[in-house]
Amino acid sequence: MKDDFPIRKTDAEWKALLADKGAEPGAYEVTRRASTERPFTGKYERVWADGSYHCICCGSKLFDSNTKFDAGCGWPSFSEALPGAIRAFRDTSHGMVRIETVCAQCGAHLGHVFEDGPAPTGLRYCMNSASLDFQPEDKKT
Ligand SMILES: [Zn+2]
Repeated sequence: MKDDFPIRKTDAEWKALLADKGAEPGAYEVTRRASTERPFTGKYERVWADGSYHCICCGSKLFDSNTKFDAGCGWPSFSEALPGAIRAFRDTSHGMVRIETVCAQCGAHLGHVFEDGPAPTGLRYCMNSASLDFQPEDKKT
């Protein structure tokens, strides 16, 4: 089921929260309505800095930058998610069978995962930039 996430808010609350965070204009439609941003338009598609990628809605950490790779598909792509950070659902919309990925904490739609990624995982997490919030590496050491 897709309605048992630890963090739950109303649509109005999510809209207000995303506006407060200065999220991309499409962030609400992507994360709460499972729309897809146009390829090669996302702000993280060409970002290769060290850090981590978090859910734009709830801040949960989803990916390390060292798993990000250039899939050439026009969306930020990762070969591995942090353990337990993401839940996957079968998605049969648009006449395709795909695996939808959502934030395990708040259910935000992130994108889809495909089995054509690089070794060792063989996975390609094809994400919407609008779903993500990049945090540069914290150099404490
Ligand atoms: Zn989330």
